[in-house]
Amino acid sequence: MDISAYIPFNRPYMTGKELWYIAQAHSRGHLAGDGEFTRSCAQWLQQQTGSGKALLTHSCTAALEMAAILANVGPGDEVIMPSYTFVSTANAFVLRGAVPVFVDVRADTLNLDETKIEAAITPRTRAIVPVHYAGVGCNMEFIMELAARHKLIVIEDAAQGLMSSVKGRPLGSIGHMGTLSFHETKNIISGEGGALLINDPALAERAEIIREKGTNRSRFFRGQVDKYTWVDLGSSFLPSELIGAFLWAQMEEAQSITRRRLALWDAYHQAFYGLEREGKLRRPAIPPDCTHNAHMYYILLADLDRRSQFIAALKAQGIQSVFHYVPLHDSPFGAEAGRAHGDLSLTKSLSDRLVRLPLWLGLEPQQTRVIDAVFDALK
Ligand SMILES: *Cc1c(COP(=O)(O)O)cnc(C)c1O
Repeated sequence: MDISAYIPFNRPYMTGKELWYIAQAHSRGHLAGDGEFTRSCAQWLQQQTGSGKALLTHSCTAALEMAAILANVGPGDEVIMPSYTFVSTANAFVLRGAVPVFVDVRADTLNLDETKIEAAITPRTRAIVPVHYAGVGCNMEFIMELAARHKLIVIEDAAQGLMSSVKGRPLGSIGHMGTLSFHETKNIISGEGGALLINDPALAERAEIIREKGTNRSRFFRGQVDKYTWVDLGSSFLPSELIGAFLWAQMEEAQSITRRRLALWDAYHQAFYGLEREGKLRRPAIPPDCTHNAHMYYILLADLDRRSQFIAALKAQGIQSVFHYVPLHDSPFGAEAGRAHGDLSLTKSLSDRLVRLPLWLGLEPQQTRVIDAVFDALK
């Protein structure tokens, strides 16, 4: 092995069975959505999460857009979410005319600060969208209680959260709806892909209709109506069976993928214990009631300058490390489409200081090179 080889931030992991399952789908001749593999994936997700209904979509973005339609948010309605998230969390609601209201994050997990939500609620508030950053759960018990009191819908953005739980409950299965991503940068992948978990049974039938271009096609296939027709708003949110076939190969290995990722995560965490004690960096914090899927290993440095120097120092050693979200309230479109509630100084400071290290299956023999480079950069 060339020990000076470039170490990328991410490298998609293939289990080896993806092409074999795609070949099976090909020979069966069912290539459109909802074939056998897609159905197996949906059933697996229901078992894994305990959600009543899992619907595969072509991305988590699509699942969020479906959730925004199902939540009935309209022009002028407000949706509370963190500013420290991916654009799709906000776009899905802005597409319906709603206004994202950005609330600051917690210093320990970088998740929505549950204690700051209530002050952001107005008569126009319709929904709360907690994002489980790095696959580490938000305080869902608190958020669900608050939402019930104010009659708000909760949509978990669990794009990074498959195989994680809080208080024993799988992420994505706790809110009225939850969304998952199988983008190639996530743990379980299909290139592009996602799912919507419907945990409130009252939303299940409409979810099927919205996903099938606003038609009652699913009821037709179950023999519940004798012809199918246009009954509601909708779009084409379902992935091809070829994506389902690829994804099935990944789901079969989900336990071992998670175990191997956790081993890499733990190796970083132990290695950096001393650096944290010396005040050179801060390691991720996992609340005691959370189990996590090792989606990401990040460290927090002193400030933006220190982070830029760090990224350059690793790059000089052939190692790619990357920062993450530009807070949405600070982005050109977010400032126009959304509204910041209160002081978002933690969001700003943490996003300036965070850097993510390579974490992918196959990194094992070279992980010490990354660890050594981190020590070198912080000397
Ligand atoms: C990856 C991600 C998304 C988008 O997922 P896609 O499947 O790429 O649409 C949304 N929200 C969060 C928090 C993500 O990490």
